[in-house]
Amino acid sequence: MIEILFLGTGGARFVVARQIRASGGMWMRFGDTQLHVDPGPGALVRALSHVPPCNPRELDGIVLSHKHLDHSGDVNVMIEAMTSGGFRRRGVLLAPRDAIEGEHVVLPYAQRFVERVDIASERSGPYRIGEVDVCTSIKHVHAVETYGMHFTYGGRTVSYLPCGRYFDGLASDYAAHDPDVLIINVLRFRDSMDVDHMTFDQARSVIAQVHPRVAVMQHFGTKMLEQDPVRLAREVEDDLGIRTIAAHDNMRLDVDTEVAALAG
Ligand SMILES: [Zn+2]
Ligand SMILES: [Zn+2]
Repeated sequence: MIEILFLGTGGARFVVARQIRASGGMWMRFGDTQLHVDPGPGALVRALSHVPPCNPRELDGIVLSHKHLDHSGDVNVMIEAMTSGGFRRRGVLLAPRDAIEGEHVVLPYAQRFVERVDIASERSGPYRIGEVDVCTSIKHVHAVETYGMHFTYGGRTVSYLPCGRYFDGLASDYAAHDPDVLIINVLRFRDSMDVDHMTFDQARSVIAQVHPRVAVMQHFGTKMLEQDPVRLAREVEDDLGIRTIAAHDNMRLDVDTEVAALAG
């Protein structure tokens, strides 16, 4: 059983600051193993207020793709919740080095609450968390150290492609893992801004090259939201013949059912 719950699908400072979409990250269940990926602002409240609630004390690990606040705002409070306020030392934290050292976002006292801190580096792993093997991607082109993650469990792979600029070699790195599901952050629609984020057209090209069974777009900025992500997902699906979903807050993706439906 693999299930991904989207506790927030907003991206970029404007959307997150106004909470036009929530920023709680993704709660992933792989059998009995539970991981919280990119717990942005409001992650704890979103997890506990979900029906049924996500219980931080059952988490096996917390994973950060990078330290920007829309991905890490609640990381310390989630570590406290996972470890019962630090009284039960447990769980894994997997994050890039610059999230943990230097101008870090994970406070040193909170780092001591977890059982194991794994420092993500480029194309590293597998890091074993519970029953899941996590490998990191090629280094993304982003203002801070950023890696995507490939989660493998029970013969299936879910890849998460977080924020970053498009470059040659990005898609092939993900394609090499042959993911069943590709979750991709799409902040921008079409513009000529010189920023470290992909546009919708670049994301479509990545989806085409990686060719997952199911693609999920999320982490939307305002321009994407104005364009209606559901409509855009349908456009990608029709163009590429790849099942494509635009995530919404509190969306639950049942990976086994989704993949089985395609096979049937
Ligand atoms: Zn972001
Ligand atoms: Zn970022």
